[in-house]
This record gives sequence, C-alpha cells and structure tokens, in this order.
Amino acid sequence: MMSKYIYMDNAATTPIKREVLEAMMPYFTDKYGNPSSIYSIGGQSRNAIERAREKVSKVFNAKPQEIFFTSCGSESDNWAIKGIAYANRKRGNHIITSKIEHHAVLHTCQYLEKQGFRVTYLDVDEYGFINLDQLKESIRDDTILISIMFANNEIGTIQPIAEIGKIAKEKGIYFHTDAVQAIGNVKIDVNELNIDLLSLSAHKFYGPKGIGALYIRQGVKIDPLISGGAQERNRRAGTENVPYIVGLGKAIELAYENIDEHNEKLTKLRKRLIKGIFDNIDYVRLNGDEEKRLPGNANFCFRFIEGESILLSLDMEGIAGSSGSACTSGSLDPSHVLLAIGLPHEIAHGSLRLTLGDFNTEEDVDYVVEKLTEIVARLRAMSPLYDERKGR
Ligand SMILES: *Cc1c(COP(=O)(O)O)cnc(C)c1O
Repeated sequence: MMSKYIYMDNAATTPIKREVLEAMMPYFTDKYGNPSSIYSIGGQSRNAIERAREKVSKVFNAKPQEIFFTSCGSESDNWAIKGIAYANRKRGNHIITSKIEHHAVLHTCQYLEKQGFRVTYLDVDEYGFINLDQLKESIRDDTILISIMFANNEIGTIQPIAEIGKIAKEKGIYFHTDAVQAIGNVKIDVNELNIDLLSLSAHKFYGPKGIGALYIRQGVKIDPLISGGAQERNRRAGTENVPYIVGLGKAIELAYENIDEHNEKLTKLRKRLIKGIFDNIDYVRLNGDEEKRLPGNANFCFRFIEGESILLSLDMEGIAGSSGSACTSGSLDPSHVLLAIGLPHEIAHGSLRLTLGDFNTEEDVDYVVEKLTEIVARLRAMSPLYDERKGR
C-alpha cells in the first residue's frame, strides 16, 4: 500500500465534496419523479432543478431563466458555438476564437469550417494572452461570434475578458466564453463583463462528472443542439438529470461561498510550489503569466527530459500530475497551447502541469518538490541531451 496519494491534477477533474454527494443522494432514491410529471414527486424534482438554477444564476448576476443544464462542458461549448452559428447564418458566417482554446471549442470550430463557416484563430503571446488589437482587426461585417476562454486549462492564463466583452458589445457581436476552469476561482458578473454565453462543468469545481450548464443571455438568437421534448424551456431536450443538477447547484454554491479563502490558500500553495521547484531544480521555466493565472495552476518545462517520464515516476511515488492536458496525453504531439506560446517542440515535450485544489496541503507541496527534485536529477542523469550540455 502506498503511504499517501497526492492529487495535483485538479484541472483535469476534482473529487466531489461530501456535502455535494449528500445533497444528491435523495434524488436517486425517494425523490425519483420525472420533473415533467404533474404528480407530487414530479413537482419535487422540478423544484429541486429550479433551486439549482437559481443558485447558478445568482453566482453570475444572471436571471434563472438564462441558465440551461447540459451533460458537460463539452456539450455547452458545442451548443454555444454551433447554436449561434446556425441561428445567425443569414447575418454572417465568420467566427473568431483563439489558438489555445480547449478542444471542445477548437474541434467544434473546425467542424463548422467544413460546413462553410470561416474561423479566425487568434494568436497568443508568450504568456498566453490574446492581442486585443488583433481581435479588433479580425472583426468583419459578417462576424457573428467571438469565443474566447476565460482561463486556460493548461497554463492557467486569465484573458482580459472585460475588454473582449466591451469590444464585442460595441460591434454587436455575440461573446461566448468557456469558463470551465474559471468557476470557483474567479468572480464573474456576466453583465459587467458583457458575456452573452458562458460554459461551465461541475466536475471542475468539486461537483459530479457528466453535468454542465450554459448561460444564455435573454434575447440571444441560438438554435438547440439536442431536439426532442420541451425540457429546459424548449431549448435542450432530454429528461433532466435531477440528482446531478442538484449536485451542480450545491457545488457552485459552496465554491462561491468560500472563494476568497480558496483563492488565498491556493495562491499561497502555488507560490510555495513554484519557489520550491526553482530553488531546487535548474533548467526549468514557468509557463503562463506569473500573476494573471488561476490560483492553483503551475505549469513547468524541464529541459532535457520528457514530461511523460516525469509523470510515470511521480505516479510511482503516489503523485498525480499531468503533462499538457488530459486530452493530449497519450498522443505524441506536444500541447497546442505550449506551441502557441512559442515553445519549440523539444522544450514543450518536457512539460509538467501541477494543479492544486482545496484538498492539498503545504506538506503535499513540500513532498512533491522533494520527489520531483530526485526524479528530475535521475532522469537527467540518463539523458544524452543533458550530457551534451555538460560537454559544451
Ligand atoms: C474540462 C474542460 C472542458 C470540458 O468539460 P467536460 O465537462 O469534461 O466536457 C472544456 N473546457 C475547458 C477549459 C475544460 O477545462
């Protein structure tokens, strides 16, 4: 048995909080009614969904009727982008996004290109920020949608969302943001930020996997992605996943109740982790911006070695991290995000993402620094590239 297990991959998914699970449980057993049924246990389910909807809307300063439940973050992204594209085709067929979006956005845009839509993929600078001037220059008469993620899942960079929202509003273009990583880490007011559509997913903020939501500003013209029954006010068919919706509502409520405390704790842990690594290991770089990043995100490149080898060695010590993102691991291509910030392939291959969460402690951080120092030294001792460096 391993003495302890240290989970530092909270950007991939988070463990569910006990209070969230407890809130969900009755809706699997006694309160099983279909929310569309008129008898009393149907009404119970209906009420539970509406309470969850209110909790989500309150967090964003939105109206409850602007929140729609989906099956995950990927569905929310697909719906926002395809739904806007198809409903507004007569107005134009041009979409603007960035090169560092999650694949749920990038692959959706690539799919739409095959359907005849035109997509501009904005560059990012070395820290992962889009350029607002390039955004303005990319806007055309036929631009119908700007989709820029709130915070990046790999390097944690938080985009200038208020500025993007202002530009979109001035030009009368819909603005969608994939805020999956931002929820529970950033306070978001959709009105102040001029956001028209926002995607979220419960499993990234200590809720269950397989449930998400899309905020759609009242008046936005959007087609449904899933056709069928009249659920979600005729916009998203399918019998509602009542227990999971209840779990999402509970999780988002908890996340924003404790957000200041959470951010303070994670920022402190992150700084300790980064300092520990820089104090003990050389030939290492931090990816992303030092300050404008998610509180729990640390992403490094270690020269002369492979991120995959570091991960396997960490796993043997009972430590879970990630190399790039969960979606890119298993493939030999380096992360599209690290390439977009200008890293050459050989450096991008040495990446390690450690993402801290509410359950991590200072002891965890110190243990990871200690083990990582040993692992990097051992792998480099076997690396011909590291040897060449010494010969120079
Ligand atoms: C995890 C993630 C998604 C996908 O969410 P799922 O619920 O896993 O489909 C989309 N965008 C970002 C930025 C993510 O981190």
